[in-house]
Amino acid sequence: MSTPAPDPDTRFWSPALRGLSAYTPGEQPQGTGWIKLNTNECPYPPSPLALRRMAEAVDERLRLYPDPSALALRQTIAAQHGLRVEQVFVGNGSDEVLAHAFMGLLRHGRPVLVPDVSYSFYPVYCALYGVACQPVPLDADFRVRVADYLQPNGGIVLPNPNAPTGIALPLDEIRWLLQHNPDSVLVVDEAYVDFGAQSAVSLIDEFPQLLVVQTLSKSRALAGLRVGFALGHADLIRALSTVKDSFNSYPLDRVALAGAQAALEDQAHFASLTRRIVDSREWLARELQALGFHCLPSSANFLLARHPRHGAARLQQDLRERRILVRHFSQPRIAEHLRITIGSPAECEALVAALRELIDPVR
Ligand code: PMP
Repeated sequence: MSTPAPDPDTRFWSPALRGLSAYTPGEQPQGTGWIKLNTNECPYPPSPLALRRMAEAVDERLRLYPDPSALALRQTIAAQHGLRVEQVFVGNGSDEVLAHAFMGLLRHGRPVLVPDVSYSFYPVYCALYGVACQPVPLDADFRVRVADYLQPNGGIVLPNPNAPTGIALPLDEIRWLLQHNPDSVLVVDEAYVDFGAQSAVSLIDEFPQLLVVQTLSKSRALAGLRVGFALGHADLIRALSTVKDSFNSYPLDRVALAGAQAALEDQAHFASLTRRIVDSREWLARELQALGFHCLPSSANFLLARHPRHGAARLQQDLRERRILVRHFSQPRIAEHLRITIGSPAECEALVAALRELIDPVR
């Protein structure tokens, strides 16, 4: 455990930053021997083609700036989604793409609506960019009810599947929301879409206010490369490019451009990764249920699970002592849940074995 940093001297800070609680990512432990099921990374290596192209990209050309428009990568993404290149924006991880969307599309002096249980970066972006954030409660089954989003807003952000619940929203409901909310941007954050949800990309040509954000961090096993992208009407994409050009003209380096493009080309590797993760998710859900856990129905590469007789904070600590990391959130609605990333079969088995020792058998 790291020691808390001393309070900084904030006299010279911008006022907006003083009240900001920055996002705290899940623990990245030092050293080896950890089973890391806490940050939704992929347990399998990236595409061998991507690794090779990245190695080939490390040469004397690194003295030159990369293509600021990332044209070749955007062309590949556009072709894969049946879109034009002007409808694709790429950035340094989908976190950065989302930050540009908050900055460029969601600051209208009206609150941005987000589910009350969702990605905790959204309220941080709101605070950073001075936007009111209006959490909209999930229903009793932890589902997003799209009718609850028909209230005055400066934009709506929905992760689909939601994180950390893993629950997917059907495409029809997203379409309904777009039809009934024509005057502000709907950002659909599809970080986990490849593990079983329906993408909203097919709605882009119908709805100019739809921005879909995806990442190579999860289903392409490239969290370390930091590549994400947005898809939408060319005018939305232009707003993101304007923010980017005013911030950093070269968001992706030459190695990332080469690796990302190859990873997207290697469809066979992608299909194999996602299939194995979905199989392991179904296996792990059954094993957890056999131990008495309640698991929400997940379409993502993680499970949100609660044990009726064992507190989640304690279980997380006990697992950590066995060098297994899972995520616990203190937010009251999910404070009794653990978010468990789907690991390799061996990692999932080690988790189940550890839990079997920690969980009392039902008497
Ligand atoms: N959206 C959601 C819902 C996420 O959980 C994450 C990963 N923590 C991201 C976006 C950001 O992913 P990345 O920046 O690695 O693309």
